[in-house]
Amino acid sequence: MDGMTAKRHTTFHFTLEPTASQVEGLRRHVGAARFAFNQCLRAVVTKLAEKAVKTTVGEDARVPWSGFDLINFFNQWKLTADAGVDEDGKPGLAWRTDVCQQVFEEAAVDLGRAFAAFSDGRKGTRRGRPPRFPRFKKKATARASFRMRNKKAEIRVGSDRTRCIRLPKLGELAVRECTRDLRRMLRKGRAKILFATVSHRSDGRWHITLNVEAAELHPARRHGDASTSTPVGIDRGLRTFAVVADAEGNEVARIESPRPLRRGLRALKRKSKALSRAKLDSRNRHRARACVAKAHARIAYVRRDFAHRESSRLIKTHGRLVIEDLCTIGLMRTSLARAIADSGWSLFASMLTYKARWYGATLTVADRFFPSTRKCSACGHVGAKLDLSERTFHCSGCGHEADRDTNAAVNLARYVIVSEPGPSPHVAAKHAETKNAYGERCSDARLLVVRETTLYEVGKASAWRPRRAVSTSTVNTL
Ligand SMILES: [Zn+2]
Repeated sequence: MDGMTAKRHTTFHFTLEPTASQVEGLRRHVGAARFAFNQCLRAVVTKLAEKAVKTTVGEDARVPWSGFDLINFFNQWKLTADAGVDEDGKPGLAWRTDVCQQVFEEAAVDLGRAFAAFSDGRKGTRRGRPPRFPRFKKKATARASFRMRNKKAEIRVGSDRTRCIRLPKLGELAVRECTRDLRRMLRKGRAKILFATVSHRSDGRWHITLNVEAAELHPARRHGDASTSTPVGIDRGLRTFAVVADAEGNEVARIESPRPLRRGLRALKRKSKALSRAKLDSRNRHRARACVAKAHARIAYVRRDFAHRESSRLIKTHGRLVIEDLCTIGLMRTSLARAIADSGWSLFASMLTYKARWYGATLTVADRFFPSTRKCSACGHVGAKLDLSERTFHCSGCGHEADRDTNAAVNLARYVIVSEPGPSPHVAAKHAETKNAYGERCSDARLLVVRETTLYEVGKASAWRPRRAVSTSTVNTL
């Protein structure tokens, strides 16, 4: 695209409002994607079985494995008599022209990716538990979605009405949200739609996500020289979602989490109970299931919306930010798991990471052994571990007293100053990781060490219980 030098990838998310006949079309596409996936998988399984019994390797022994091979296989197969014969006696998949061909190809690509992941798992070149061999998708359990590539620029936004998206074969689909931002970017050539993914969620809504390659943000919206702006530290806690403070010791903001799960837990329990009591396969059970799904979806929406708002606000107002590297995986194995999951820490951190890149801000992840909570922000004395119930930091060295979270945030804000100018004597600076450190998780050995320390800290915290739901509000404006 002309005039686009640096690029960033982003997504635009809309809720669809399809008509009854459009829902039918959407369902047909979902079915087509599942069909192509299963058909390709079946072919591979058959070929592998043939290969296993054959002693001599014939010409046709090559098993399609990559997305590219699988697309070619499916495109050939859909024209053969194997795929069926229509009323006029012509061979081929009778309904293939009813759906957008991209859907078949993207399903094949997905299977290719699953095979690649499986191979990597076998070779040991992939992190985490090795993935299983891909399985057939079932209508009842598979995620109802399909994807199409914007090959011939057929995906259009707001051509008839402003709140609509046009997809090939499906036509104009109404969307609930405003499309103005995206339309403006497309008009000015600052964005290009790459993919559209349509999914039917368990709460009954149809969603569309447009994967967009966009130009960098306008320089006026970006931070100039990030190194000149004053750094702020963000201390994430459980009681308060985050406390933001600068290196001078001033608290800049205190962000309270909406804690959607805690607020919705009673209703969720009631609904889950109704579901488990409903008779299997009854109409009431289906209703109860939809009800539980809706409650879960709402919780997820609230959490995501909150993380988006707060991360954007922070990144737009501060050029340099420091967060601590908390091992959420370790904490998720403790009694605090629910509270941590509800706060959405990792979601927030990943948003901060990519938004920092967009807005030209610097995000530093402090080393996980940096004693942000134990250190005195006045004299630098590192004291003993604080119990989670202790809300005030008290320095045994100089007698300085401060709010526990504010003290930690100030320490984090100073972290960047201490660790930046060359090799400093500070221990933490040795491990300082700037930018994108969230993408890179620690090795297993280090993970173990951290889990032990966090467990120690959390083990004492059982006395603390959440007392009431907290509303979304920030005490200080940024
Ligand atoms: Zn002190």
